[in-house]
Amino acid sequence: MAADIRIVPCLTDNFGYLIHDRSSGATASIDAPEAAPLIAALEKEGWKLTDILVTHHHGDHVGGIAELKKKYHCRVVAPHDANAKIADADLRVEEGDVVKVGGLSARVLETPGHTLDHISYVFDDDRALFAADTLFSIGCGRVFEGTYPMMWESLLKLRALPDDYKLYCGHEYTASNVKFALTIEPDNAALQARAKQVEQQRGAGQPTIPVTLGEEKQANVFLRADVPAVAAAIGFAGESAADVFGEIRERKNNS
Ligand code: ZN
Ligand code: FE
Repeated sequence: MAADIRIVPCLTDNFGYLIHDRSSGATASIDAPEAAPLIAALEKEGWKLTDILVTHHHGDHVGGIAELKKKYHCRVVAPHDANAKIADADLRVEEGDVVKVGGLSARVLETPGHTLDHISYVFDDDRALFAADTLFSIGCGRVFEGTYPMMWESLLKLRALPDDYKLYCGHEYTASNVKFALTIEPDNAALQARAKQVEQQRGAGQPTIPVTLGEEKQANVFLRADVPAVAAAIGFAGESAADVFGEIRERKNNS
């Protein structure tokens, strides 16, 4: 593999990520929740930050940009957005654009719902998906700006990626997501297995990320709104997948 990926815990429960291209020395941060831990991780590795790939405008994803840009003079890549909410952007990208980080390539997928500007980055050569607050392990982001059908379409776009791709998401919410998902699918064997694994990982103080998309497709109830048994479990048999998804998301909001 050409890329080295480091997980950098930030703020209370955000994941910062560094992806480094050994051949060129380029290093990108996926979002910038907080500058200090990212700077510490860069210094520990002896890497220099060349790019920040921003997924959406929320403060816990952009709060470290100004300081990092001042220190490293790095390029800031942000979603195309008519309101240009991310002020520090040097390059604005949209669906289908490819962002180069040295010799690495990231494909941009528009995944609106959590926010309207939300994008995800896919490094196909490295089988890595950075989905920020669209897709969490065993969960998904709250739908703040978009609609449930819009968010469901975004999740379908991510679900269409190959099973061996690894998910790197924006927050360490997995344990609470597992607890909720078990209320809907208590008999899902893949979810039960993930629950055991997450308990061990959290007990050992380890992150629950990354996880393969193949595992998520089996265990993440938010990716399973079109499974008849899931619809039936919430009393929505025969309803549209978007409506089933919306009901599950509502229940999580109220859990
Ligand atoms: Zn967010
Ligand atoms: Fe967030």
